[in-house]
Amino acid sequence: MPITPLHFPFAFGLSKTNKRLILPGVVVGSVIPDIEVPIMWVFFSSLPDHLFLHSLVGAVLVGTILAALVTWLLYPPIISALFRVSKDDLKEACTPSCMLVFSCLIGVLSHLLLDYPMHWFNPILWPWVNPYDIVGPLVLFFAPFGPINGTAFWMANYLTSAIMILAWLSILIYYFDKDLWRNHWLGYSSRSKN
Ligand SMILES: [Zn+2]
Repeated sequence: MPITPLHFPFAFGLSKTNKRLILPGVVVGSVIPDIEVPIMWVFFSSLPDHLFLHSLVGAVLVGTILAALVTWLLYPPIISALFRVSKDDLKEACTPSCMLVFSCLIGVLSHLLLDYPMHWFNPILWPWVNPYDIVGPLVLFFAPFGPINGTAFWMANYLTSAIMILAWLSILIYYFDKDLWRNHWLGYSSRSKN
């Protein structure tokens, strides 16, 4: 996904599949793999910009832990500063627990799942399988229109992004007058907490 935040709607939807999942963990997990992209550009420009954190082994072992730390330490102060969501409620939701780590794991896996169809190379099985040997199915679908690392990739990307933007708009509209930011960032409104 060229725009990392567009992973949010998928994570939000997944968090609704089980009440025990902690939305902040799923959300942070769903964006964390992309932090490797600028690092790869700057320090490892000869390697693919999606690599370690976009591999199953790196995402599960390192991405999950990283996401849990970010959810615990950074999510409450940042979200409470930017949106009108109680810092205490955020801190309570983001307290380290097995369920928080599991929620982060679901988030990072959701990132890989969403990235896979629309990327022309996928390091999901790195270091055992060359990332360039795994072309996303959506890219292959658009391959008749142009090169997989050009037109086909961008078409797959735009389509996925458009679907995610529509999903996000639906979330915003649905919760607009229903305690929007608590539902958006915490996963529940002040009335339905328990
Ligand atoms: Zn990614």
